[in-house]
Amino acid sequence: MKSKTYGAGEAPEKRFDSGKSADRSPRGPVRQQVPSGSQETCAVSRRPDWDQYFMDIARVVARRSTCLRRNVGALIVKDRRILASGYNGAPAGLRHCLDIGCLREQRGVPAGERHELCRGLHAEQNALIQAAVYGIAIQGAVYYVTHQPCVLCAKIMINAGIRKVVFQGVYPDPLALKLFEEAGVVLVHFGGSSSAKKEHRLAETEQP
Ligand SMILES: [Zn+2]
Ligand SMILES: [Zn+2]
Repeated sequence: MKSKTYGAGEAPEKRFDSGKSADRSPRGPVRQQVPSGSQETCAVSRRPDWDQYFMDIARVVARRSTCLRRNVGALIVKDRRILASGYNGAPAGLRHCLDIGCLREQRGVPAGERHELCRGLHAEQNALIQAAVYGIAIQGAVYYVTHQPCVLCAKIMINAGIRKVVFQGVYPDPLALKLFEEAGVVLVHFGGSSSAKKEHRLAETEQP
């Protein structure tokens, strides 16, 4: 999170996963021409802070998404260790929306509505399920998500004892932010303000 501001308009709905979600890195080329003797300084300046580090990884996770609209990646982190990860897609072994289409797409359901029509699980849910399957305690952990969670995920995350949510792209689900706020979950808009109130207004006005 060095220079570029992310936020509204950063996460347009995508019909097909072209893998471009990984192209949003705010950093320039990895290889740079540097004067001899200054390599060490340059390497240090390229070193990401923790939020950047985990968000970069979440974006890589999102590339595995099979959703026709958004490619979302989520990490559950505690004590700066990644405990679990997830991306949005159908349950394991089942055919994906990418393969057979999605009712929400076919019916033109607006973003943030009628989640039950889609066979996919959300990234946040898949990360939490992964933790449950392997018996990993996540109480007090932090979520890193490429997009703002929806209200279904928010309720689950609150009851899982999540302390903080760092998200990047916005999503038109103001109730999710309201519940997080009411539950005392710290919300951080990566690349934006940490004010939940500001993000609340953002989500209300954002129309993908
Ligand atoms: Zn779907
Ligand atoms: Zn969700």
